[in-house]
Amino acid sequence: MYTKQDSTPQFAVRLDAVTKTYGSGENAVAALRGVSVGFAAGTFTAVMGPSGSGKSTMLYCAAGLDQPDSGTVTIGGQDLGALDETGLTKMRRDRIGFIFQQFNLLPALTALQNIELPLRLAGRPADKDVVAMVINRVGLASRVKHLPGKLSGGQQQRVAIARALVTRPEVVFADEPTGALDTGTAAEVLALLRESATVLNQTIVMVTHDPVAASYADRVVFLADGQFVAEIHQPTADRVAERMTRLDARVTNNGPGMNVAGARF
Ligand code: ADP
Repeated sequence: MYTKQDSTPQFAVRLDAVTKTYGSGENAVAALRGVSVGFAAGTFTAVMGPSGSGKSTMLYCAAGLDQPDSGTVTIGGQDLGALDETGLTKMRRDRIGFIFQQFNLLPALTALQNIELPLRLAGRPADKDVVAMVINRVGLASRVKHLPGKLSGGQQQRVAIARALVTRPEVVFADEPTGALDTGTAAEVLALLRESATVLNQTIVMVTHDPVAASYADRVVFLADGQFVAEIHQPTADRVAERMTRLDARVTNNGPGMNVAGARF
């Protein structure tokens, strides 16, 4: 486990000089222009940046859902570029968890069946102790027989978090996980993610545009123009908001009609 004393932190996820361009010729958009960043095991990181700065592209490349043009992505020491499609599928299924803004639960399965689904897909017997621990941790013990449609948004996102945690993955990627929730429910979900990192030593990488959400993380990394431009450790919402204001100003100064990646509006 990475501790503050270690001189060489153990990275659960590493990106080295990752580039990604969409389209070609006149329509080419450089979404990532050489991003190098590591996410230490057991830490909770928020990824922020102006709209179009490359946050989603980075998350998708880091998770093996999209392929960089150059550079490497390593998860738990495994270079994703060295895997074939089958290997990548297994990696995503067994060693990566996902949490989405819209929960993405299967409506015909109960909460418990949704939570156990990644284990079933992997052909792994459900370890009852781990399943029970995860369900208790997310506070869903009395709701596991319900269908998602009978649960509130916050409860559905708790199911999604339990589903992401149940395989004890190397890393959980979260894409705006509180974007569809009211402020109070969002705070509960963020506290749960925070606790998963602290108590379960779960590595979490979360894209968000909300400085308050980012303040739950150990560290915030900022992207602008497809590059890693800054980071804040032990962030407060005020410091994050102030940094975002400066980055937004930088984008605005790029000139009218162009976004940070140089794409036309
Ligand atoms: P963010 O998540 O920070 O808003 P994205 O990673 O979504 O940024 O996008 C980075 C840049 O890449 C933007 O200019 C966006 O328009 C462009 N982009 C993203 N996905 C695609 C795609 N599938 N096709 C073409 N351009 C894309």
